[in-house]
Amino acid sequence: MKHGLILGKDHWQEMLEHVDRQAPLEACGLLAGKHDRVEKVILVRNQAQSPVRFVMDPYAQLQAFEWIDSSGLDLLGIFHSHPSGPQAPSQTDIEEAAYEVSHLIWSKDQNGWKVRGFWIENGSATEISLEIVH
Ligand SMILES: [Zn+2]
Repeated sequence: MKHGLILGKDHWQEMLEHVDRQAPLEACGLLAGKHDRVEKVILVRNQAQSPVRFVMDPYAQLQAFEWIDSSGLDLLGIFHSHPSGPQAPSQTDIEEAAYEVSHLIWSKDQNGWKVRGFWIENGSATEISLEIVH
């Protein structure tokens, strides 16, 4: 199901601080909520500790999935950063997209960090809308 996501300003801020702290390494995490409304950002360690790749720490990811489940929420999205671009999912991101959720990419250029949302399906990525609310 492809649709936009609604995020609180605090969720946006939490992700921004995380990706900025981890740079120049890629950072990653999960978004949980209901329908298209994000209610919780879960920061996950990038086990790859790489500037060009992320692999979610499997134990932290499992714990997060259990928390989401026990909280009655759904996994809505996965976010990760491209500290030196590009703004869109890489070929590897597309190939490794394992969950039918939204994918948020934080990228950085001379103007700072920017986040864009994508839906990845059948080997291609389509941009989705992200609405930031207060
Ligand atoms: Zn990527």
